[in-house]
Amino acid sequence: MTPTELDTIPLAQPVLGAREEELVLEVLRSGRLSLGSLLERFERAFAAQVGAGHASAVSSGTAGLHLALRSVGVSDGDEVITSPFSFVASANVAVYERARPVFADIDPVTLNLDPNAAAAAVSERTAALLPVHIFGYPVALAPFERLGLPIVEDACEALGAVHADGTPVGGSGHPAAFGFYANKQLTTGEGGMVTIGDGALKERIDSERNQGRAPNLDWLDHDRLGFNYRLSELACALGLAQLERLEAMLAARARVAARYGEALDEIEGLALPCPEEGGARRGWFVYVVQLPRRSDRDTVVGELAARGIPSKPYFPAVHLMSYYRERFAHREGEFPVCEDVAARSLALPFFPAMSEGQVERVAETLRAVLEP
Ligand SMILES: *Cc1c(COP(=O)(O)O)cnc(C)c1O
Repeated sequence: MTPTELDTIPLAQPVLGAREEELVLEVLRSGRLSLGSLLERFERAFAAQVGAGHASAVSSGTAGLHLALRSVGVSDGDEVITSPFSFVASANVAVYERARPVFADIDPVTLNLDPNAAAAAVSERTAALLPVHIFGYPVALAPFERLGLPIVEDACEALGAVHADGTPVGGSGHPAAFGFYANKQLTTGEGGMVTIGDGALKERIDSERNQGRAPNLDWLDHDRLGFNYRLSELACALGLAQLERLEAMLAARARVAARYGEALDEIEGLALPCPEEGGARRGWFVYVVQLPRRSDRDTVVGELAARGIPSKPYFPAVHLMSYYRERFAHREGEFPVCEDVAARSLALPFFPAMSEGQVERVAETLRAVLEP
């Protein structure tokens, strides 16, 4: 083996360059590190990117989901219908408001919340639906909209995704939360954004991210409960620089995914991310495969790691996490599609600068591990 073949390939890696340094340095030199002009610039540019009327920058994707859920009126004793195949934040935000996350099973192809299962879970306490655009694959919203309940979208993995009718994810008018953690399509280190159609909801979110401060009143007047979910000017500067290179980063991710698709073709029993249907476009976030039923995932993870390739079970089912089992009495067998997918899913190294050679190496190694 050559030395490069022995190098570890990272699981994820942001694209950061001279433009990020320049804008962050400008903020440092300005001396204005919070609630300055970059906040509004970042919000406007982001709203334009996804075709939303408004956008509110916040300190994380989770903070965005929390405020979005509050903005549609979710509170004590309500139920929020959401996907058990997600990052835990999408369920946690309901618990923050003393509401109950009610899970419904997922579609076996898109891995998104199944609208029929969601409809069957509706009760008189249901206050909102919280579909997750999992792995950047856009949720078809129409069947959820027909249920006539407020919708909050978890778009934290879906920047760049486009619905079948051409609307970008985040531009449908419902509050939609994006996340900017270091592995996302766009990063500010930590950060998030809520896009929204209704200006009154933006006002509420802007106030609640800033301790419930009334927009035009004396700074000491806090007319409602709020949080500190502000995003710093440094983070906004990073975000603006990242937006300038977003199309290139998204295109690079799509190219890496296409290479994986070719390189992993025809491994028996291995399921690749679903193809894009009916004009929908995935905003590529991660490359997650489902292993053949015959293989043991822990063994596969170990054998890949021994060859310098990190991988990660992704995602474990939320309802089977110990907090959710204990607090809401969940158990195995409730959501069979989700549980089957969660037991077989594996995220492979995936990032915009991933070379053809790196993709080949991961694919060949996985092939050798699965078909010894
Ligand atoms: C990343 C992510 C979030 C938000 O994460 P933060 O770390 O709070 O920015 C929420 N939901 C999903 C599905 C995610 O992948």
